[in-house]
This record gives sequence, C-alpha cells and structure tokens, in this order.
Amino acid sequence: MNILVTGGAGYIGSHFVKVLRRTDNRIVVLDNLSRGHTESVPDGVSLEKIDLLDFTSLTDLFSRHSIDAIVHFAAFAYVGESVDSPDIYYRNNVLGSYNLIEAAKQGGVKKFVFSSTCSLYGNPDQMPIKEDFKTDPLNPYARTKLMIEQVLRDYDTAFGIKSVCLRYFNAAGASFDGDIGESHHPEPHLIPIILNTALGKRESVTIYGDDYPTDDGTCIRDYIHILDLADAHLRALNYLVEGKDSTIINLGTGYGNSVLEVIRKCGEITGKKINYKIGERRAGDPAILVADNHKARTVLGWIPKFGIEQTIESAWKWHLNPRY
Ligand code: UDP
Repeated sequence: MNILVTGGAGYIGSHFVKVLRRTDNRIVVLDNLSRGHTESVPDGVSLEKIDLLDFTSLTDLFSRHSIDAIVHFAAFAYVGESVDSPDIYYRNNVLGSYNLIEAAKQGGVKKFVFSSTCSLYGNPDQMPIKEDFKTDPLNPYARTKLMIEQVLRDYDTAFGIKSVCLRYFNAAGASFDGDIGESHHPEPHLIPIILNTALGKRESVTIYGDDYPTDDGTCIRDYIHILDLADAHLRALNYLVEGKDSTIINLGTGYGNSVLEVIRKCGEITGKKINYKIGERRAGDPAILVADNHKARTVLGWIPKFGIEQTIESAWKWHLNPRY
C-alpha cells in the first residue's frame, strides 16, 4: 500500500515511519517542518513539505501519489499554548485536519488513522478510563481533537471513510538505537524535563502540585513507550485493511506512575541526582489519568511491550546524544 504519514517528521510520526519502513508498504511523509525535524525522516522516504492549510498543494499531492491510507499525526500539541493561542490550534488542528479529510474524500482514500488524545476525557471520576466514558475536553487542544473525531464519524456515515481514532495517554521514550527521539522547543513534557535536569541543562524540576488525592500527592499518568504507540498504528492500519468498522481506541499501558516516582526512577537510571521543588498546580491537570487498554488488546491484538524503566532508558540514551 501507499501510506501517507502526516507529521512524519515529528516525534510520534517519525517513530511510526521507522516501524512502517520494516513492512513492504510505500511511505509518503507530509510535514510543513514547522515543528518537525528533517533529520528524523530516513533517507529514501519521500518527504513532501506541504502545509495542511494549503488545500491546492494537498489535492495535488493526492493526484501525484496514489494513496491507499492516511495516518494523520500532524498537529500542534501543547495544552498550555492552546489556551493562550486557541486561534493557531483551531486553524492548524481543525482547519488543517479538515482539509486533509476532504482531500482524502476527493482522492478516494477510505482508510484513516487519527492521532487523538486521552485529554478529551477531561477529569474523569473513575479509573481506568474506558473508551465509552463521556468526553469533556477542558482546553482548546483537546477540543480540536474531539472535533476531528466527530468529522471522521460524519465522513464515515456520509462517504464511507473508515477511521481508527487512537487516544494516546502520555507518549514517552525514544527509539532504542538512539537514532530518533523527542526534541520539542520549548519542552513541556515531564520525562525530557527531568532528563535535561540530570544533564545539568536545567537547575531543577518543578513538580506541579503535591496536594493531589494520590499516595504521594503528585499527579499520576500512564507513560506509554513511543514504539508501542507506533506498533498500535500499524495494527490499526491492518484493522482497516481487513474492512472493519470505524472505531475509537485508548492506547496506554494500563499502569500509572506519579511525578515523584518518575523522578525517582530517572535518578536511578541516570545515576544522577535530580533536583526538584514543589510548585503550584498546573491549571487543568487531572489528578490521575490511566488507560483501560482492553479494547486495544482485543480489537487490535496489541500488547504494550515496554514499561516505564525501558521508556526512561531509551529517552536517556537519546538525551545523552540528540541528533536534532
Ligand atoms: N509535570 C510536572 N512538572 C513539569 C512537567 C510536568 O510536575 O515540569 C507533571 C504534570 O503536571 C503531569 C505530568 O507531569 O502531571 C505529565 O505532564 P506532561 O506535560 O509530560 O504531560 P501531560 O500529562 O500534560 O500530557
């Protein structure tokens, strides 16, 4: 198959491309390179530098490549930024994704895998989180993802485009060979922040609140290795190739770790002292987010292989020697 991977030069997209290359599919990466890294696109993979807001270039791409399926990662993904600048989130994530879905429709593409988020569940009062929990997005970023899930549902009903919406929990870690990894500027995510502190690039980690209703008072998240996420996308594609119905699936390990636990594990793995201080809560942070991943296991046959230790180890290898 010819597979279009949007955002294939970004953190999650580039790890998916690495996994997809081991199959006999042909890959076209679309990325506007505003936040992605050319260096993360392997030699021999065709890279189309196109912005999703440019509908003419998009339809031209569909006429030049006969695309069979789309895996759509391209999006802005900083919650805080989305609160301060909702305009760029609605433009990029909603308008951009809508253009892509419409161009896919016009180009006759019927298979679509969408990168969605657990943050559209808001602050659920039950754990672990199942796919049928109510959605309650608490910030513009989460709302943009929910809107596109809804567009995809309607495009299935009206035009028969089948989709799998994958709701990620906390993507983390890097390729084990140290070839590609996480490099955001600025970096908002916990594990890279801790590892940069271990490297002496930052003075300390600020823990956003230690008065949550958890054992040690810090927030609990479900950290899922980036290669496990990539594997799930491959399975989602195969699921669509088998002609199955559109669906929504959580991707998490099913286990949670508190911020303090992650800091302690990073200290053990790096052998460095991690300085931290307790700060204010970050607006909109739920106390606990952990996936119920039974649906991914049964529907996709997906089993996450890596635990938090391997996630931190691989991230550490990357941070010791980042290529970009
Ligand atoms: N966190 C923290 N200090 C930081 C960055 C993150 O205490 O400098 C906490 C944050 O409150 C959350 C967890 O670490 O509970 C994971 O945050 P991250 O931004 O990595 O992912 P999110 O859960 O927001 O998607």
